[in-house]
Amino acid sequence: MNIIPNIETKRLAVKLRFSAEKMVKRQHPWVFSESIIKQNAEGGAGDIVIVYDNKKNIFLACGLYDPYSPIRIKLIQFGKSAQINEDWFVNKITLAFEKRKALLETDTNSYRLLFGENDNLPGFIADIYDTILVIKLYSHIWIPYLNHIVKHLITTTKCETVVLRLSRSLQTKGNLYGLKDGKVIYGTLKNEVVVFKEHGVLFSANVIHGHKTGYFLDHRHNRKRVGELANNKTVLDVFSYAGGFSVHALKGGATQVASLDISKQALDMAKENAALNTHTGKHTIIVADAFDGLQAWINEKKQFDIVVIDPPSFAKRESEIDKAKNSYARLAKLGAKLVARKGILILASCSSRVTAEDFFAISEENILSSGRTFTILEKTYHDTDHPISFPEGAYLKCGYYKLN
Ligand code: SAH
Repeated sequence: MNIIPNIETKRLAVKLRFSAEKMVKRQHPWVFSESIIKQNAEGGAGDIVIVYDNKKNIFLACGLYDPYSPIRIKLIQFGKSAQINEDWFVNKITLAFEKRKALLETDTNSYRLLFGENDNLPGFIADIYDTILVIKLYSHIWIPYLNHIVKHLITTTKCETVVLRLSRSLQTKGNLYGLKDGKVIYGTLKNEVVVFKEHGVLFSANVIHGHKTGYFLDHRHNRKRVGELANNKTVLDVFSYAGGFSVHALKGGATQVASLDISKQALDMAKENAALNTHTGKHTIIVADAFDGLQAWINEKKQFDIVVIDPPSFAKRESEIDKAKNSYARLAKLGAKLVARKGILILASCSSRVTAEDFFAISEENILSSGRTFTILEKTYHDTDHPISFPEGAYLKCGYYKLN
């Protein structure tokens, strides 16, 4: 594979502050620039960095150097040293594939094969949509290794096409060696809208222009669950994006599904996704701000058997946590008022800065304060193709409440 020219990398040695060293011993993958107290040479993107124990001078971990990020070293190997060569990558990709095997035995051909830090490849995402592999890079560290990695991703997944997506911050810094966001780096892409299957339900995603890699795979199990609950029910899907929950509900036999989102473009995709599947329910789309749209329906005394509220991350920064909690509280209250008697309210959060414990507590307090009592049907986290290996890796939580 020759996607990019051969890029030479160096080996560096560093020592860290005591507190950072403690985190490394716990196999936390991030080393911030201010934690580095000794470094033997200046580093370039993707240089291999060995972290030595400050006192005993023995190997602690190794990682890749990122001059463009405050997370200066992304650790990939802990405890015992290893050559970071082609075999190392083959091993990581094989291990990651093994973890997804059970999912691939279901009627599903879309999955996340590499989930960054959680699969020992920080900032490296690889999602499969049928025969198309979409790689999204969040760090320059992978550029020198791309030829090796892509070769083995193709062998493992048997994909026919590889699309490269680059994060916004990556696009504005450093040498990209001719790589561009949306570049097809292997095979051909006949149509940038790719059709794929999720537990027997068809969807499409724009792999060149869609958010992230085109679609949100992390909620797959929750969407399946909503499909199972939806037979003969009316469903409201708030923050519906491309209709993930809506289409499962329609396929599951919902009589009416309303998809609400602020983006007309997302709702057009939701319509198209619904049309890919046979169903008899009525599907309506509403372009609106969620808070206003929900309040308007409450004023009209409208109710639904199932209400799903899955907003975007409200706390992208530490300083936004309180505001995010307040938004979750408002949504739980609004949602609870729109659920019919014995109906189900499903509340999700993808803000990693708001813990699952806090999110569920806020949701539950606010359902109660809206005058409804409930029983908890279940609480779920990430689907199996999003394994979690460090605290910041966990972001998704979802509560199912049956309201009296
Ligand atoms: N539930 C979706 C994913 C939601 S992503 C799924 O299962 O795939 C978040 C969505 O929220 C985006 O589509 C975005 O357009 C929408 N959004 C963001 N702010 C909004 C607001 N204030 N009101 C309504 N929708 C909003």
